[in-house]
Amino acid sequence: MSTLLLAFNAGSSSLKFEAAEAANPGAPVLSGVVDRIGAEAGALRLSGPLSGDVKDACSAPDHAAAMATSAAALARFLPQGVVAAVGHRVVHGGAVFSAPAVIDDAVVTALTALVPLAPLHQPHSLSGIAAARAQFPDAVQVACFDTAFHASKPFVQDSFGLPRTYFDQGVRRYGFHGLSCQSILRTLRDEGQPVDAMRLAIAHLGNGCSVTAVLNGVSQSCSMGFSTLDGLAMGTRCGRIDPGVLLHLLRDGMSPQDLETLLYKQSGLLGLSGESNDMRDLLGSGTPDAKAAVDFFVARVIEEIARAAAVMGGLDQVVFCGGIGENAAPLRDQVAQGLTFLRRNDGSEVAVTHRQTREEQELLLAARAAAA
Ligand code: ADP
Repeated sequence: MSTLLLAFNAGSSSLKFEAAEAANPGAPVLSGVVDRIGAEAGALRLSGPLSGDVKDACSAPDHAAAMATSAAALARFLPQGVVAAVGHRVVHGGAVFSAPAVIDDAVVTALTALVPLAPLHQPHSLSGIAAARAQFPDAVQVACFDTAFHASKPFVQDSFGLPRTYFDQGVRRYGFHGLSCQSILRTLRDEGQPVDAMRLAIAHLGNGCSVTAVLNGVSQSCSMGFSTLDGLAMGTRCGRIDPGVLLHLLRDGMSPQDLETLLYKQSGLLGLSGESNDMRDLLGSGTPDAKAAVDFFVARVIEEIARAAAVMGGLDQVVFCGGIGENAAPLRDQVAQGLTFLRRNDGSEVAVTHRQTREEQELLLAARAAAA
C-alpha cells in the first residue's frame, strides 16, 4: 500500500471522512460518515475498496465520540503508519487565513480565537483536529477553510453598513461554503468550461444553503455573511432577516441563547412548515404549510441568484449543488422559471445546471499539496 491521505469534514450533525492514495486523491479507497451525532443512536457507514460496505450502529453523543468512532474505523482498515497528511474542513478562517494552513500549536490557538465568530461550528472542527493529531501524530495536518475562497471579495460585498470600526474589528461578510465552490470550479474546469471568463452563481442547497457569485473564477459575494445564518432560508436557519426583528425579540425578553436556538435550529423550512427541515419530506407532504415553506425557499433562491447577477453585471450559468440542489429537479426548474428574465450577453438563456460537490476531495488535494 502506498502513502495515504485522509480528509475529515465535521458538519453540525455528521462527520464525513475519506482516505485516498496520495497518487490518486480523486478515487478514495475508503469513505465514511458518522451520522446523527447527538441523537440517541448514531450510525456509521463505510464504503470503498478498503472497507467494502459497512453499516454499524454506534454511540455518537458528541463530535469527539464521532471522531473516536471514525478513527477506530480507519485503524481497522488502514495499513499501519502510512498516513502522510490529513486535511480538515474548518468553517472559519477569519480575516487571518485565506489559504490552507499546516496545523501547529500556533494555528490551533488562532483557530480557537475564532470560536466566537462560529460558536456552533468551529468547536467541531477543533475537536476533529485534536483527535486526528493524537491519532496520526506523524502526519501533516492541514486546515482548509470555508471562508478562504471568499477572501478576495470587494469591500462593498465584505462590509455591513455599520461604522467602519466594526469592519476593522472583524465584523465582516466572510462568506461560507468556499470548499464546495472550489470543488464545483474544479469540476467545471475539468470539463473544459471557461471558468476564468464566466459569470457564475453557485447555489449550494443542502442543510445549509448559500449562493456565491463567482466572476472569472473569483468570489465576488456570498449570501452567507458574518455567520452561516444570512441569505437563503435553510433546513432550520432563518436566512435573511430584518435586524429590527431581533431587537424586538430581545426587548420582549428573549434571551440571547433562546434567540440563537430560534435562528439556527427552529427556523427555515422547519419553522415555516411546522413539519420538517428535510426538503424531501416537504415536497412529499402536500399540506399548505409545507407548500408555503417550499415556495418561500424558492423565492429566496431566485432573489439571491438575481442579486449575484447584479453583483457581476450579468450571469452566464447557475450551478446547483448540495442534497437539494443536486436532487430536487422540480425545484431547480421552478428557480430556472423565475430567472427567465435574465439573459446572457448573446441573448440566450442563462444555463441552469447541477453538479455533485466534493468537499472531501478538496481536503485530500490540500493534504497532498502540504505533504509534498
Ligand atoms: P448537508 O448540508 O448536511 O451535507 P445535504 O447536502 O445532504 O446536507 O442536503 C440535505 C438536504 O437535501 C435535505 O433537505 C434533503 O431532504 C435534501 N434532499 C436529498 N435528496 C433529495 C431529493 N431527491 N429531493 C429533494 N431534496 C432532497
